[in-house]
Amino acid sequence: MFNALVLTQEEKATFAEVRQIQESDLPDGEVLVRVACSSINYKDGLAVTGLGKIIRNFPMVPGIDFAGEVLESSDKRYQTGDKVILTGWGVGENHWGGLAQKARVKADWLVPMPSSCDDQKAMKIGTAGLTAMLCVQALQTAGLKPSDGDVLVTGASGGVGSVAVTLLTQLGYSVVASSGRVEQNGSYLKALGASSVIDRSELEIDARPLEKQRWAGVVDTVGNKVLATALAQMQYGGAAAICGLAGGYALPTTVMPFILRGVSILGIDSVSCPYEKRVAAWEQVLALLPNRFYQEACESITLEQVAEYAQKIVKGKITGRVLVRL
Ligand code: NDP
Repeated sequence: MFNALVLTQEEKATFAEVRQIQESDLPDGEVLVRVACSSINYKDGLAVTGLGKIIRNFPMVPGIDFAGEVLESSDKRYQTGDKVILTGWGVGENHWGGLAQKARVKADWLVPMPSSCDDQKAMKIGTAGLTAMLCVQALQTAGLKPSDGDVLVTGASGGVGSVAVTLLTQLGYSVVASSGRVEQNGSYLKALGASSVIDRSELEIDARPLEKQRWAGVVDTVGNKVLATALAQMQYGGAAAICGLAGGYALPTTVMPFILRGVSILGIDSVSCPYEKRVAAWEQVLALLPNRFYQEACESITLEQVAEYAQKIVKGKITGRVLVRL
């Protein structure tokens, strides 16, 4: 028997409870993993609280990412004792996930843990960190250079935002962090490397189709008016990597930034990101993140605390990344 967070639903309300389950309860898959760590991402918050329609089949073990060690494998790519990382692929949404001491998954969904990594580092980065790296790589591929000007990161104190601020800083970009919690998190964001911090309310406005040009690049985790304003403020030829909807899934924009300033939107998805791209992103994020990131931007909790932290993340009250020790 081992511990798992189990979600059930009654009359449309979601309930989360730590329970003892056994291996025979786990879904099919080629690889059985002893999970060492998972993490709390925004999507986990939506799933555990039931605020987002993330889970359709109950009971469900949530947890969209995990790191651990292979216990059994019927796939020749993985042997007992191998260290592995999982993010995405609907795990923790429609296949039992990482918020349990064991998980059984498809071999195709795993990546081998890079030698520079360990369980804790992997989940301090987690889905959020991998996604931030994919955003930064997309901006680089689009040709964004540090000399081009400021790069805006929205939802900067969150998981994706904190990693994005740190990665861009490490790569020499001048980062402007937008946050709804400037007073609380201004010095945190500057410690991660932001050259300045602006209040989200500056961007959460009904922007005109084109505004004064401010941003060479954008990493957006928020969507809605914040993203629409950022697009109206993009410099000629700028690019925005967009991955999130913490402020809502709407995008009240016009064609003007695209047809008059040649602005590009780069959509970022980490869930079904192909294997080679994932492996390359893991290698790069591990190479770039300085030790201070793991110290300053991460906290660690137990399985019993997940329900409380799920409430916090959907209310925008988490700063940085939250590791769950199994
Ligand atoms: P977090 O909750 O850690 O970060 C989100 C941040 O957005 C908050 O910290 C807050 O930052 C800001 N925020 C919160 N609520 C609002 C609001 N109502 N309006 C505007 N800003 C708000 O979440 P994650 O970093 O885990 O995820 C961020 C987003 O990216 C989510 O929407 C998530 O679903 C998405 N995502 C997408 C992925 C993909 O593959 N496309 C993968 C991973 C995440 P502050 O207080 O500083 O303003």
